[in-house]
Amino acid sequence: MASFKTIDDIDVAGKRVFLRADLNVPMMDGKITDTTRIDRTVPTITDLIAKGAKVIVASHFGRPKGQRIDSMSLKPVANALSKALNGRPVAFAEDCVGLEAEKAVNSLEAGGVVLLENLRFHSSETINDPTFAKKLADLADVYVNDAFSSAHRAHASTEAITRQLPHAAGRLMQAELEALEKALGNPIRPVAAVIGGAKVSTKLELLGNMVEKVDVLIIGGGMANTFLFAQGVDIGKSLCEKDMADTAREVLEKAKKHNCEIILPSDVVVADKFAERASYKTVSANDVPEDMMILDSGSKSAKEVADKLESCQTLIWNGPLGAFEIKPFDSATNMVARKAAELTKQGKLLTVAGGGDTVSALANAGVQEDFSCISTAGGAFLEWLEGKELPGIKALEN
Ligand code: AMP
Repeated sequence: MASFKTIDDIDVAGKRVFLRADLNVPMMDGKITDTTRIDRTVPTITDLIAKGAKVIVASHFGRPKGQRIDSMSLKPVANALSKALNGRPVAFAEDCVGLEAEKAVNSLEAGGVVLLENLRFHSSETINDPTFAKKLADLADVYVNDAFSSAHRAHASTEAITRQLPHAAGRLMQAELEALEKALGNPIRPVAAVIGGAKVSTKLELLGNMVEKVDVLIIGGGMANTFLFAQGVDIGKSLCEKDMADTAREVLEKAKKHNCEIILPSDVVVADKFAERASYKTVSANDVPEDMMILDSGSKSAKEVADKLESCQTLIWNGPLGAFEIKPFDSATNMVARKAAELTKQGKLLTVAGGGDTVSALANAGVQEDFSCISTAGGAFLEWLEGKELPGIKALEN
């Protein structure tokens, strides 16, 4: 496991702390529609304040590609952050480097907080420019990274800056790294993984790594169709990547070699179209009518997975088991998620989930508070599941 310092290991009293957070919140017409990412930064900021630090919060927001774009300003986030900190004032600097930033930082008292403008208004951020990293570093004495979700990118504020300042992981980063280590680095076995979602092609490396590391791999969602097709099953007009059949067979072969049990749906919910009020029924996976499409695992398959979890100690989850956005095709995801949540609450299962649509699929199942860790990271979570080294994490290592 990467060994890294936490904010307990560094002296921050009276010091200027550059906190790289992920405040890339969803926004509509200038209004924040989901404050999860802001709320998750609060424990780190609160701890830094309690230790007497001057907290300089920095983040990216959208993809302005080096341009100053008003709709991608972090200014509205300063108020939301202040609200999340129980009304503690959060100053805002109109730029993340230079005079504006320096002025705002120089006005901070111990325990004060300033939010810097969007890092990506400077193209030097995304090219990991050391000169730009030095300008960011010059604002502070210590660097803390709480943005696991940005750790798969070597950017100036996630990578190059660590060469300029003493550095540590924030509380959120710490919690995510510890959960990931428990799930895949050094897990209590048996370990199961639920991998669902639309396509095999986007999760090839992930599947390859999973079969090496986990004891049971539960494949669901659209990608299960490709696996069924690869085994000669007629899947009607279901979403399927026929050109991925060889790859799917290779994954199955590799699983056999690594003693990884693969569970594919044995019954499926089929419908005439992917739409509200589509007519649907449950059939055996071997009996999919040619004019219908698979949109969910059937209840027998969901129960089989739920039962399997009873004999597991650790669960990794990425991707829904069906087209969960439209009811009732969220049924299998909901049933398995609720079982996993119940086992977690009973202390029998460690559950770590994340990546892409997983957060909304699990929120839809009503279990977002009950898993051990649900990471809001998308790309970083997937790259970690693929077994890749994340530059932002490597840079934090001692
Ligand atoms: P991903 O981003 O790869 O995790 O894929 C998530 C998407 O997969 C969701 O939008 C689901 O609606 C979709 N999905 C899951 N199962 C199916 C299926 N059987 N047919 C079509 N789309 C599906």
